[in-house]
Amino acid sequence: MSNSKGGVRDNAWLLSRLDYLWGTYFPDVAQINPVFISFGRFARLRFGSIKFNSKEGKTHITITSMFKDQRIPQEVVDHTIGHELCHYTHGFSSPRRRLHKYPHSGGVIKKEMDERGMLHLYMAYKKWLKIYREDLKIYYLSR
Ligand SMILES: [Zn+2]
Repeated sequence: MSNSKGGVRDNAWLLSRLDYLWGTYFPDVAQINPVFISFGRFARLRFGSIKFNSKEGKTHITITSMFKDQRIPQEVVDHTIGHELCHYTHGFSSPRRRLHKYPHSGGVIKKEMDERGMLHLYMAYKKWLKIYREDLKIYYLSR
């Protein structure tokens, strides 16, 4: 599915990114329950989350609506989705076997991304975050 610059970032686009990232970097990770993805509220500090509804057996990934903005690099959105997919892989918010005590134990996410060849997304995210944090400081100070 092509969605280059100028395309609308809606829930269908998010799903296409999830499919792409899963197929490219997590082909060995079986999707053993329904996984959904959608934009949530406009959050400036929490970019993504993953939740498991044990009653329904469904996993929901939520991405901040701030990422609908085309000025935010696609790699940043991909990194956020990839981060949540690492949690799914490690058995957090998924029915998979839990591999760590805590979702962010000792750099397990970065290690997972590195092993899956996703470090370029991590680096793009870090680069963006540095500038974003400065902008955010100015934003809060000017209010
Ligand atoms: Zn996390």
